[in-house]
Amino acid sequence: MKSSTATGTTATASVVAPYRGRFAPSPTGLLHQGSLLAALASWLDARAHGGSWLIRMEDVDSPRVVPGAADAILATLARFGLTSDEPVLYQSGRRAAYHEALQRLVDAQLSYRCRCAREARSLPAPCLCRDLVVTDADSAWRLRLDDAAIVVDDLIQGRSSYDPRLLGDPILYRRDGLAAYQLAVAVDDAHQGISDVVRGADLLESTAWQIAILQALQLPVPRYAHIPLLTEPGGAKLAKSRRSVALAGLDERGTLAEALGLLDIALPEELKAAPVSDMLHWSVTHWSTARLSGIRAIALPN
Ligand code: GLU
Repeated sequence: MKSSTATGTTATASVVAPYRGRFAPSPTGLLHQGSLLAALASWLDARAHGGSWLIRMEDVDSPRVVPGAADAILATLARFGLTSDEPVLYQSGRRAAYHEALQRLVDAQLSYRCRCAREARSLPAPCLCRDLVVTDADSAWRLRLDDAAIVVDDLIQGRSSYDPRLLGDPILYRRDGLAAYQLAVAVDDAHQGISDVVRGADLLESTAWQIAILQALQLPVPRYAHIPLLTEPGGAKLAKSRRSVALAGLDERGTLAEALGLLDIALPEELKAAPVSDMLHWSVTHWSTARLSGIRAIALPN
């Protein structure tokens, strides 16, 4: 791994050992096939490296949390043999840490209030508030990115470079007073000593923001590996009907075998009727990020 440059333009992993991976679902619904794939890939990668695997419940966005979803997700993961090696960390219990991180960035003059912010993606970039003195408490907080390109070296997707002027300054705290996803993820990946983030390619762009936040907080940057995003057979966004794998009567073995197949792991026939723990155990030795190299999306079979 390369080391950080003075200008902060290179994504680097300063945490190498021990390997600690994580799966970080948002309890805004039940576990779907795409999130099962991400959970499985991060678990396999952790085990293939002899590392730990943690589950972090990303329930910081309280208005979107669905009551009971967190427990349902954990129960579904357990049915697939995926359980956290340490107690599950709930972001709802971490508000003080996010606030402290924001304060550090404000003190370092790396954060500014933004009146127009609600959702970063729908806003002009760069935000005009960065050149104003906004004192209105009814505002969000953003990180002030510098002009240097943010480079993400992804173990599966390769290198991408992001122009901060096009990316826009990430939101750290929302106008409603809640820590934003990007800040919470960065703070918690560092807090949990996560060395390797394996997740869906829909979060590739967010990675640039998370790296910038980690670097601004002078925290270690993990390695990243973004697995292909699951789509409908024709490439369209995954349909709602396919989204839940928590259905009663679910055939765990069939679903797991299918998910492994999507990760290019072909289970031998005799294992397809074996307990999920045997299927997982065998798959650890057949997992390889190289086989997914550069693949941004995988369509489900018809
Ligand atoms: N909580 C996010 C989600 O469910 C994932 C965060 C992450 O893996 O960094 O989409």
